[in-house]
Amino acid sequence: ELAGTTQLLLSRIRDVPDYPEPGVMFKDITPLLADPEAFAALTEALADLAVRHGATKIVGLEARGFILGAPVALRAGLGFIPVRKAGKLPGATLSQSYDLEYGSAEIEVHAEDLAADDRVLVVDDVLATGGTAEASLRLIRRAGAQVAGVAVLMELGFLGGRGKLETALEGAPLEAL
Ligand code: AMP
Repeated sequence: ELAGTTQLLLSRIRDVPDYPEPGVMFKDITPLLADPEAFAALTEALADLAVRHGATKIVGLEARGFILGAPVALRAGLGFIPVRKAGKLPGATLSQSYDLEYGSAEIEVHAEDLAADDRVLVVDDVLATGGTAEASLRLIRRAGAQVAGVAVLMELGFLGGRGKLETALEGAPLEAL
């Protein structure tokens, strides 16, 4: 059954070579989103992880983490919190910058959305270098909340994101479907 779901999900991910730049194999999830059976299976699998790891909130990372995280939050009966690129949230935010290959990026969250008794599951489609997920874990901890884990559809293992996240996870799980 699990193997069947994995096969269904894999069959709906499109590999796009050299996008957005030469040498990158882009994992396009739009065929999966367009297939209600696959989208439902993915939502269910991620919601199961949220429940299993005792999450009280879902954080979705802009932008595909919004598409996946929102139905997961509803399915699991949890609140959804967007972590956005800098300058998009209107309220009082916490910001975290992180290094990219060239330059840096910054993400933000509404601080008031996270409380000390929250256990947060971070959801995104692809874990690549792990830089974005690591920064989101820092935001969650700086807001005083706890980390339930990180759950992604795919982990690009050769980029070493799992190792990069290890310290920030503090023993919480990284789950890749
Ligand atoms: P990173 O911070 O390097 O882990 O990259 C994370 C973000 O970039 C994720 O939100 C992914 O959606 C996106 N991303 C990075 N590499 C890829 C890829 N090869 N295919 C699809 N999305 C990617």
